[in-house]
Amino acid sequence: MNLSVSPPIIIAGAGPVGLVLALRLGHWGIPCVVLESDPAINRDLRASTFHPPTLDMLDEYGITPGLIDQGLIAPTWQVRMHATGEFAQFDLSVLEGETAHPYRLQCEQWRLSELLMAQIARDLPHVQVLMGHPLVSFSQTDDHVDVTYNTPGGETLTVRGAFLVGADGGRSQVRKQLDLSFDGHTFPETTILATTHFPFHDHLPQLAFINYCWSEAGTFSLLRLKHLWRVSLYPDEGQSLEEATGLDAVRDKLKRIAPGTQDHPVLEVRPYRIHQRVVHQYVVGRVVLVGDAAHLNSPSGGMGMNGGIHDAFNLAEKLRDIWQGGSIDGLQRYERQRRPIAIAHVLEQSGRNRARMQERDMGKRRAALEALQRKADDPAEHKAHLLNTSMITGLRESAAID
Ligand SMILES: Cc1cc2nc3c(=O)[nH]c(=O)nc-3n(C[C@H](O)[C@H](O)[C@H](O)COP(=O)(O)OP(=O)(O)OC[C@H]3O[C@@H](n4cnc5c(N)ncnc54)[C@H](O)[C@@H]3O)c2cc1C
Repeated sequence: MNLSVSPPIIIAGAGPVGLVLALRLGHWGIPCVVLESDPAINRDLRASTFHPPTLDMLDEYGITPGLIDQGLIAPTWQVRMHATGEFAQFDLSVLEGETAHPYRLQCEQWRLSELLMAQIARDLPHVQVLMGHPLVSFSQTDDHVDVTYNTPGGETLTVRGAFLVGADGGRSQVRKQLDLSFDGHTFPETTILATTHFPFHDHLPQLAFINYCWSEAGTFSLLRLKHLWRVSLYPDEGQSLEEATGLDAVRDKLKRIAPGTQDHPVLEVRPYRIHQRVVHQYVVGRVVLVGDAAHLNSPSGGMGMNGGIHDAFNLAEKLRDIWQGGSIDGLQRYERQRRPIAIAHVLEQSGRNRARMQERDMGKRRAALEALQRKADDPAEHKAHLLNTSMITGLRESAAID
């Protein structure tokens, strides 16, 4: 494929995954057009954990130091029995030598998107990001894709691309138009995300920056960000979602976690449902799916956005090889390398994390905690567990697939 005559690669969606793909392709001089339906980067509360290999990947483009500046380095994470304060703790410093970033970084995903946007605007003239331009539909032939989109002014236009990448999230229009089955299920419960300036670290002894907690009333997680705590909660037994997401109800739940006279200010509340789904096929001709458009998983363990960025890194290489004259079959290799990993590592691991925390039986919780403590006490198992949960094992398995 000749760069000077080939149409660009069209990417639908300027979420973290679409922008990482555009960044990597752009650094190789490959022209891209990113169509984004929102008028600006969405600052809603979503992912907030960056795993070590993702930090390694983003470091290649100088993005990681900017994230570290705005984030919080979390060297450890815990699973805790809230009532007694007992915990199993995992320490990512044992991954030294396996990664240049042996820790999790706590930082909101929109900060990554804004760093990516800034670098693209500054350094990559052949990457065009069109905000407020939703993809409407597309058609493809053997050698190109025509993508129809709307402009903020109300026009409907068409752009020709060499490939179309659907990085347009869980409700992907690209996936829907391909009419691919998105098998899996949606969990019955709704998670309530809330943020607060309440200093849990001053009230709960030996708290890490990342804590998955069992409590008598159910389960919650406490994740510290640079300037606030992010708490995942659930409605109480018999409580409607509307009641559970009211400011007073959320404040009460925070107070239950750390009672005291101090105020529990609630900054933001965001309810969401959890899905475990993977699309039947990642590639159809010249149209490819990445990130949430291809797979959705429980946020437990923070793997959704990370896995999507890993997809983007892998896919960018395949597109570059095709761009430089390689066979389009390279796209099948992307699917072979990434789809099984999404299933076996991201969906299954996050599903196991979720199931462990949803366990209500006290005896089973105690057994799970003790099993984790034994794992944490055994150096080889401790490291193997962290290689797995930090997504390093999955990436290595992926790279070994032909
Ligand atoms: C409430 C919530 C909490 C979460 N918490 C976590 C967490 O703790 N840890 C974790 O790892 N993950 C979490 N996730 C998941 C994580 O946010 C996603 O995995 C991540 O955003 C995936 O990135 P993406 O770029 O694939 O998709 P998205 O971030 O969804 O980006 C898709 C983009 O495509 C755009 N778009 C949609 N349709 C079109 C169209 N037709 N044309 C053009 N553009 C379009 C959207 O506006 C959006 O900007 C959470 C998600 C939610 C909703």
